[in-house]
Amino acid sequence: MKINPYYQNLESSYLFSTIARKVAAFQTAHPDAPVIRLGIGDVTLPLAPSVVEALHSASDEQGVQETFHGYGDEQGYGFLRQAIQGYYADRGVFLAEEEIFISDGAKSDLGNILDLFAQENTVLIPDPVYPVYVDTNRMAGRRVIFADATEENGFLPLPDPAVQADLIYLCSPNNPTGAAYDRAGLQRWVDYAREMGAVILYDAAYECFITEPGLPRSILELDGAEACAIEFCSFSKMAGFTGTRCGYTIVPAALAGGELQRMWRRRQTTKFNGVPYIVQRAAQAVFTAQGQRETREAIAYYQQNAGLLAETLTELGIWFTGGQNSPYLWMKCPGGMESWEFFDYLLENAHLVGTPGAGFGKNGANFFRLTAFGDQQKTQEAAARLKRLLRG
Ligand code: PLP
Repeated sequence: MKINPYYQNLESSYLFSTIARKVAAFQTAHPDAPVIRLGIGDVTLPLAPSVVEALHSASDEQGVQETFHGYGDEQGYGFLRQAIQGYYADRGVFLAEEEIFISDGAKSDLGNILDLFAQENTVLIPDPVYPVYVDTNRMAGRRVIFADATEENGFLPLPDPAVQADLIYLCSPNNPTGAAYDRAGLQRWVDYAREMGAVILYDAAYECFITEPGLPRSILELDGAEACAIEFCSFSKMAGFTGTRCGYTIVPAALAGGELQRMWRRRQTTKFNGVPYIVQRAAQAVFTAQGQRETREAIAYYQQNAGLLAETLTELGIWFTGGQNSPYLWMKCPGGMESWEFFDYLLENAHLVGTPGAGFGKNGANFFRLTAFGDQQKTQEAAARLKRLLRG
């Protein structure tokens, strides 16, 4: 037996365990300190009533012989794929049902899609970014290069024609920076990918947070993207499915003459047996008029938190990205502090927990991520503490 040697190329993932250890140590030393967490990337509001109703009625169906569902289509039920077709059609993107593949979440698909690509491909990944892209490619022994996201480019790097890449990851709105590409920026990437013969793996997990008119919510809104992009999306942040698990991936028919779509279908039918019927009915309920109203309400709640944190940082004169089109705010650490140093400073002096930017890549070393997924009252209290601590 020989193990996969590439796992040794992974950097140990200390980020969230170190945060948990530091917070626990602080709370042991200061048991009465009212710590507020603005660090988590998980949602906190419950599922919408119409989603819960769909879960209940689908569960009842499973207990009756006439309506029982066993194995379903590996690619997902028609009712959910058609609902997603409608969601995209509202934005002028017309998808065939065969282009939509239902899964148990974006994370699995982002990792699994790599089955389709040869090991010798060069992979271009923005830094900082969601760590899953780097780790899944390192596990497979692929060469990874980085596109620097910095204060200078507003954490929205553009393609460098001198750089050769085969697979390109883009995440917009971005985790952790909250920055979102406009049409012109995204079009640059599409044109570059087509010129290179590269494929863009586009993570749209936070598209539902886009509020600014005119910003693309899908890469497939761009000219020529159907010939060079695969899009990943999720019900996790759109409808609070982080613990319920459902997502979808769009593999356009126009991509590589249909070869990648055929290969993805083959991959999924071989290694995946579909998402539970009950969960797909719950996801379908998100797209009903009532489901949309209810899920938009939850998103608006988080957006109010994001707005308040953005106002606070603006008032304090702290440079940041995100907040408007994203549940994340990416702030520059004050006084030139390193991100772990600022983590300790904030915990000690304001009893606030955030996420050090260093955990998302080297360009995060002096930045810090705050999230808007928390309780509104606690977020207000956190904003007041930030003001007290960092004012002037
Ligand atoms: N993509 C990004 C950028 C994320 O931040 C996350 C989760 O935080 C995911 C994908 C994972 O989504 P899912 O819950 O659908 O697996």
